[in-house]
Amino acid sequence: MDLLNTLVDKGLRRELPTREEALAVLATSDDELLDVVAAAGQVRRQWFGRRVKLNYLVNLKSGLCPEDCSYCSQRLGSKADILKYTWLKPDEASKAAAAGVAGGAKRVCLVASGRGPTDRDIARVSETIEAIKEQNEGVEVCACLGLLAEGQAERLRAAGADAYNHNLNTSEATYGDITSTHTYQDRVDTVTKAHGAGLSACSGLIAGMGESDADLVDVVFALRELDPDSVPVNFLIPFEGTPLAKEWNLTPQRCLRILAMTRFVCPDVEVRLAGGREVHLRSMQPLALHLVNSIFLGDYLTSEGQAGQADLDMIADAGFEVEGAGTTTLPRHRADALAASGCGTSPTGCGSHEDGACGSHEGGGCGPCGGHAAPEAPEQVPADQARTDLVSVRRRGAGTDLAPNA
Ligand code: SF4
Repeated sequence: MDLLNTLVDKGLRRELPTREEALAVLATSDDELLDVVAAAGQVRRQWFGRRVKLNYLVNLKSGLCPEDCSYCSQRLGSKADILKYTWLKPDEASKAAAAGVAGGAKRVCLVASGRGPTDRDIARVSETIEAIKEQNEGVEVCACLGLLAEGQAERLRAAGADAYNHNLNTSEATYGDITSTHTYQDRVDTVTKAHGAGLSACSGLIAGMGESDADLVDVVFALRELDPDSVPVNFLIPFEGTPLAKEWNLTPQRCLRILAMTRFVCPDVEVRLAGGREVHLRSMQPLALHLVNSIFLGDYLTSEGQAGQADLDMIADAGFEVEGAGTTTLPRHRADALAASGCGTSPTGCGSHEDGACGSHEGGGCGPCGGHAAPEAPEQVPADQARTDLVSVRRRGAGTDLAPNA
């Protein structure tokens, strides 16, 4: 396929594809899907080998947000039955982080709900970062606290934060349909502030919110322009009790095309498979490892992921390896540029799941001799059907008395 040859050539040279080429990836057929994965996989291996970086989410403050992001279970007016708690103490956060590090995570992502931190919040997160760094040698810490005011990124950097996450989420044209309490430009400004303070910038998207292919290409091109070191790709978890609860419009195949397109547009960037992987990719998760070089281990912010051990087994079974603490994630040219800007590292997102019951149904009627029932094939669940059975609200780890999943 000429398209794929062209995209591989460009990816190996870190050259930006055209919008038409990116759109064409999203328009490929199911018959072409493995060719698309193989082509994007070549680009992934060129810059990241077969390494998979593990990241671990710690939700420092859950729920009760005054903002109205439609996709979010923590939003203003959310009826989702999620955990709600205020700031974890530094030692509680550090304990949760240590579980992730013990499970193989190289990066801990400290996330708090809210529009943005107060100066008092920055002080408490700084204490938490210091506690985590003291107790977990070599761990990378990324903060995700919402919109930053002047000087806050510098304070986080001084406290030892390596990275800051703030996602663009969707295209500028559709941003107002998703959120009314802040703007797309507010988000761009925060990513720019983090970058300017020497923090490794992490910014990504959420797919599956009813956006068009053109919107997806717009947001990924906008991310390339912002030049974050890492790009988390979330797939919407349509939580009951949120405005997007009925937006079940992703299939595993569509998710793979979106990840491939992101890899072609951001070839040398840490592309992270984030929230929604278990819910939407389901048994196709291992194929996604050929496209992304980073995933979250264990649970997400407000929902549960598959068991941490299942993540590790999947990586090994698919022929990939967990990236060790001593390995630099980013390719040399990016790592050098980051070091020159004053930061030593590279970056997050959020997302959910539970085991699916396959809708089997009872056996049929009698055979011709009136003897036994013929075995019937199990009923298949269509790939685009709503899978609310796979969404489970987090009930363990940070903010609870139960052990975390790592
Ligand atoms: S995404 Fe962040 S800012 Fe938006 S509602 Fe959720 S917690 Fe609040």
